[in-house]
Amino acid sequence: MSEGHGGISRRAFVAALAAAPFVACARKTDRPVAGGFVDDGGARGHRLRDRAAMPAIRRSERVPLVIVGGGMAGLSAAWRLKKRGFSDFVLLELEDHAGGNSRWGQSEASAYPWAAHYVPVPDANAVYVRELFEDLGVLRGGVWNERMLVSTPRERIHRWGRWHEGMEGALAETAADRDEMRRFGEEMAQMRATGAFTIPSALGARPSELDGVPMAAWLAGRGYRSAALRWYVDYACRDDYGARVEDTSAWAGVHYFASRPDDGESGTLTWPEGNGWIARRLLERVGGQVRTGAPVHRVEARGPGVRVLAGEVEYVADAVVWAAPSFLAPHVVEGAPPVRFTYSPWLTANLVLDRWPAESGFEPAWDNVIHGSPSLGYVIATHQTHAIRPAQTVWTYYWALAHLPPAEARALLLRRPWHEWKELILADLERAHPDIRACVSRIDIMRMGHAMPRPVPGFLADPVRRALADSPGPIYYAHSDVSGLALFEEAQYRGITAADRALSRLGRG
Ligand SMILES: Cc1cc2nc3c(=O)[nH]c(=O)nc-3n(C[C@H](O)[C@H](O)[C@H](O)COP(=O)(O)OP(=O)(O)OC[C@H]3O[C@@H](n4cnc5c(N)ncnc54)[C@H](O)[C@@H]3O)c2cc1C
Repeated sequence: MSEGHGGISRRAFVAALAAAPFVACARKTDRPVAGGFVDDGGARGHRLRDRAAMPAIRRSERVPLVIVGGGMAGLSAAWRLKKRGFSDFVLLELEDHAGGNSRWGQSEASAYPWAAHYVPVPDANAVYVRELFEDLGVLRGGVWNERMLVSTPRERIHRWGRWHEGMEGALAETAADRDEMRRFGEEMAQMRATGAFTIPSALGARPSELDGVPMAAWLAGRGYRSAALRWYVDYACRDDYGARVEDTSAWAGVHYFASRPDDGESGTLTWPEGNGWIARRLLERVGGQVRTGAPVHRVEARGPGVRVLAGEVEYVADAVVWAAPSFLAPHVVEGAPPVRFTYSPWLTANLVLDRWPAESGFEPAWDNVIHGSPSLGYVIATHQTHAIRPAQTVWTYYWALAHLPPAEARALLLRRPWHEWKELILADLERAHPDIRACVSRIDIMRMGHAMPRPVPGFLADPVRRALADSPGPIYYAHSDVSGLALFEEAQYRGITAADRALSRLGRG
């Protein structure tokens, strides 16, 4: 396990994370920091799980198609239906705002994401992503909108007490590290050439023995010994899957590196509010059909169709696109298969800074990684919109609680009060910015217990996952967890293909 430089070690940090009770060590010189939790701790979801008493039905509506869940999958299904000239549907969203993991917020300084914050420039496989981006003006006449491509500097890493440009350069310490990193890059290029690692994944995915082993074991089996390479791959797994390299299927680990071109030129699309920008544009197009604050608590067969209950309203439909997380289906959907996917818990925080902290080394980048930290670092929300550093900024801090078993991490997420999380976040950032406490005026925290599906070994072959993907209807499963990979492209693909299949059922194929 690598050790942090400056501030506390990673081992001590993880121990502090798990320790209870936590001893907050605010110092006299600390300025007060405002903020709190912005989620409701999943209370509405827990009511569904616990089958809490629901209000009596007072109204019935006949709607041919109901979409459940207003994340990227549900909004993409709605976008598809509208594009195909079909408007006889409603989208029901549990929260008061749609967007799911692509929700966003706004402060005086900037808009900012709560979770998803970028989409790599899609290749030719991602037909629907390209179509959407043409619709939204991100892609015009084959040219990507300059203002939406991440501007330089794109990435930096803090190590040995200073910031370094890029990620890989500051990782390899020895010639052996460099050799292994090169060999790994070559092996990933060969994997890419097989055509099995695509985005969307369903186009290329086929049974693979890689899926049966953890990524860590696969690396060891291929003779990779470099601690630098292992840290890099572990970072990638925590970043995309919220899971350590030991807990991730080797198929998914390889997919991270082999699914996208490694030419360094393809670019990444981002916005101050992250993928919230896409959610906003989708809502402009389909918002009339979206009903928020409408948790669906029951979906059951009614003749050849379906009855959907949300609050006091009963919807009588011919088909349903279930774009809420699949693990909720057995609690809500009559006859749903027994979903036992693993989900990674995450915490994100938005920090308002009214001045920039001191630091040494390479200048601030869009993505800022702290070597040896259990977090994924932070993204600067103002990076894209300000050529000159603005006085105020917002940093979005990402932390997958990958070092504890998911159930324990979820319990900790709920148990630990805001001021303790705030202290842990500041202590982590202090490794790279010793005066961070003097710069931050506000920290808001989002707790996501079931933030994303975790592609554990065997996820690809999971018969329940495949049953959900191939559901004959009238309920079509569309959440990104049906792919097992939490990516915008997967959510969109699942939403669109479910919408198409539902339309076929309605005779509008
Ligand atoms: C911290 C974090 C960072 C991420 N960063 C990126 C990134 O940079 N790029 C990227 O491509 N992906 C990222 N992702 C992955 C992200 O999950 C996907 O991109 C995508 O947003 C998932 O969309 P979805 O619709 O499948 O699921 P969700 O976003 O989970 O949407 C499901 C929706 O269903 C609603 N719902 C739940 N139960 C009910 C009910 N009973 N009734 C009605 N509605 C219900 C929920 O409230 C939610 O709005 C990130 C994820 C996390 C957690």
